[in-house]
Amino acid sequence: MLTCPHCTQPISAEMLSCPYCRKPLKAFGHPGIPLHYAAQTKYLCSHCLYDQDDTCTFPQRPYAQTCTLYQNLSAESNSVTKQKSVFNFKSWLKRHQGLLLLSGLLLLSVILALTAS
Ligand code: SF4
Ligand SMILES: [Zn+2]
Repeated sequence: MLTCPHCTQPISAEMLSCPYCRKPLKAFGHPGIPLHYAAQTKYLCSHCLYDQDDTCTFPQRPYAQTCTLYQNLSAESNSVTKQKSVFNFKSWLKRHQGLLLLSGLLLLSVILALTAS
């Protein structure tokens, strides 16, 4: 369950502002633009993907305590790892497709020979 970053009361993902403390949860009052908050006395940029790859041009960088574009570095690296393993399997299939085809044909002919006799 989501909790308000200010008062830690339970909230839903669609709420524009917290019904308990009234602080904004979305940027510009738009439900599609989440507003990320850093913990007090901390900054979001130190663990943001766009700070690490040096593509952020926001003036509040590297001391952003609120940000609409914040991308958690650890969440992103998990998704990159998953994409890499899918890619590795696909490239392995591509590299060994001839051997796989030959094995399939051999298996098929063994099955046909066994059922014919
Ligand atoms: S996108 Fe926001 S949190 Fe990320 S580096 Fe830029 S200002 Fe910081
Ligand atoms: Zn709140």
